[in-house]
Amino acid sequence: MNARIEAVRNIGKRNRKLPESSEIKSSVQFGSRVFHRGLIENLPKDAAQNWLDVLDGRAKFDPAFADTIADALKSWAMKHGATHYTHWFQPLTNASAEKHDSFLSWGPNGTVLEKFRGKELLRGEPDASSFPSGGLRATHEARGYTAWDPTVFPFLWEGGDGITLCIPTVFFSWKGEALDHKIPLMRSEEKLNQAALKLCKLTGTEAARVFSTLGAEQEYFIIDRSLFLLRPDLVLAGRTVFGAKPPKGQELEDHYFGSVKDRVMAFMREFESAALQVGIPVKTRHNEVAPAQHEVAPLFERASLAIDHNILLMELMKSYAQKHDLACLLHEKPFMGINGSGKHNNWSMATDTGLNLLDPQEDSLLFLTLLTAVMRAVHEHAALLRASIASAGNDHRLGGSEAPPTILSVYLGDALEKIVEEIIHGKKGEASLRSIDLGLMALPRHEADTSDRNRTSFFAFTGNKFEFRAVGASAHCALPITIINAIVADSLELILDEIHAAVGDRKLSRDEMLEAALPVLRKHLKLSQKVAFSGNNYSAEWEKEAAERGLPNIRRSFHAFSQFVEKKTLSVFEGILSEEELHSRYEIFVEQYCKIMQIEAALMIELFQTQVLPAAQKDMRERGLDEPLITKAIAVNAEMKKIISQMADMGWEAKGKVYCELVAPKMAELRTLVDQLEMVVDNVLWPLPKYRELLFLI
Ligand code: ADP
Ligand code: MG
Repeated sequence: MNARIEAVRNIGKRNRKLPESSEIKSSVQFGSRVFHRGLIENLPKDAAQNWLDVLDGRAKFDPAFADTIADALKSWAMKHGATHYTHWFQPLTNASAEKHDSFLSWGPNGTVLEKFRGKELLRGEPDASSFPSGGLRATHEARGYTAWDPTVFPFLWEGGDGITLCIPTVFFSWKGEALDHKIPLMRSEEKLNQAALKLCKLTGTEAARVFSTLGAEQEYFIIDRSLFLLRPDLVLAGRTVFGAKPPKGQELEDHYFGSVKDRVMAFMREFESAALQVGIPVKTRHNEVAPAQHEVAPLFERASLAIDHNILLMELMKSYAQKHDLACLLHEKPFMGINGSGKHNNWSMATDTGLNLLDPQEDSLLFLTLLTAVMRAVHEHAALLRASIASAGNDHRLGGSEAPPTILSVYLGDALEKIVEEIIHGKKGEASLRSIDLGLMALPRHEADTSDRNRTSFFAFTGNKFEFRAVGASAHCALPITIINAIVADSLELILDEIHAAVGDRKLSRDEMLEAALPVLRKHLKLSQKVAFSGNNYSAEWEKEAAERGLPNIRRSFHAFSQFVEKKTLSVFEGILSEEELHSRYEIFVEQYCKIMQIEAALMIELFQTQVLPAAQKDMRERGLDEPLITKAIAVNAEMKKIISQMADMGWEAKGKVYCELVAPKMAELRTLVDQLEMVVDNVLWPLPKYRELLFLI
């Protein structure tokens, strides 16, 4: 009996008893493994005050307090069973990194004791040479530093049987170049803060600090682990490189919001509980459109925190799936022919006083200016936004009539569209901002009515925030959020300068100020209006219309990476990433793209030669048949190998082009043939778990 058939049989025999569940309230579990504000307040007074000021963006951290804080962190961590600490950071891979050290230290007279010193809290020095640097460092220049980021809380992480104190850090080279996702994100936050505060000042809005907010809806697939282990492509690449369309996929639309299967629910509850404990405010769970697909969404938070939390959440989901004999797939497109997974980034801006700046308010210069800034930003930098979500994985998802296409447009909704029209045509009055209020009151219904249109948009206004729907499920949110912050801050500065010039030294009332600013807003809305589209983004007509409007449409991610080194990008990234740092990102993304393609192509070749072909040939021999598909597949496989062998000496850029333009079509060709073979080869001989088994056997 082949391993696949045996695994399928065993799933049927599985012990169905679910683990005991704890019924502790979410609010009680929340943050129990976080060194949160309450604990900071208990530190010696000066140290507490300094750290709290840092958290609120009012002060720099004073290293004089590091020893006191380190000691308190160690005592707290040890009380919870921690033996080790780690500087937790986010290199330019899509994962986090950590190197553990125990608290072990020499005491007097050859004894040992547990210690954690201020300098260990403040700085670490991992060997940076094995992390992607995109040419920022030569291989022999190994020095890289991690520095404590006191703007986020330390936390405890359970793994194996041990507990580790995690110190969130930023990661940079010995020359001070940013080697992580966190540093540019924090710089973009600062830029946005400065621009938004100017607007607050102009409009008399009380605020000491403005930050971006993020609620990341995470989609994922859950499948049985025994089947997962029989799919080397899922194990190594996160997606199936072969797999025939099953007789039943998502066509009955019976999975979306359907009742969650017990086994999956038990998994959800456990990972959610672990998430709550490390301070991730998970709130929403439901079945998604495709069979075996689900979603988890948290309450929104300050973006820098939400980004850390999303990384941690993905880790928790993967590890808890394993505990439940399941596998959690976070790839953008694990299965062809059914929906892929995204990570919708809901983005807005909020003040320290708790005001959501994208909440439409009547006759509000603040709101209209921000709206104009966002429109201008998206229009000006559409290609860069496209690049922010570019990856080999997302290429399988974007434009597949399940996710936004690769053309960037903004969906404003009826009420805002009217307002924009009015400002542009200068006939104030008909649709006063009051109608937005009305629109908002009707929003739940309004959203339900137009959700198909809305769901097809790349970047959609959804009442009081923008939803960046094109982000891929496995992506690190820092890059898209950094770019949104950067381009909005840049546009806002420009618009504010023009408004200031129009107002001059005059002391104006609220209404007069709006009147004076309207021509500036009108000019920018007019220039950027063509990026607004509320129709069906999936339609062929839109592709045509978008081309007529002159909107960029970068279909393949590989062709989007060069946006990082465009002149325009350089200027918008001033103060966030230098030219060298941007160039390094370009190199890293190209290299990552190539490596993923290389792994997937190699996987295909291996699976074809060592599993698919022997099974198909055996079957044909035994049944005395001749299957022409086999001959064709052998030929395509050989062609693919030949192209790959000719690339050995090429640089990454050249390789990327070949993978994108020559290898990818060959991979698709081989896949089609193998998927057809799957439909004719004896079921008992077929080695790879089939889609109907992966998607429906839980
Ligand atoms: P839907 O699936 O209908 O888009 P969900 O409830 O699944 O909506 O997710 C909406 C997400 O948007 C949640 O994570 C929520 O916290 C987040 N969100 C709501 N308001 C804001 C805001 N002002 N800023 C950022 N994110 C927000
Ligand atoms: Mg949702």
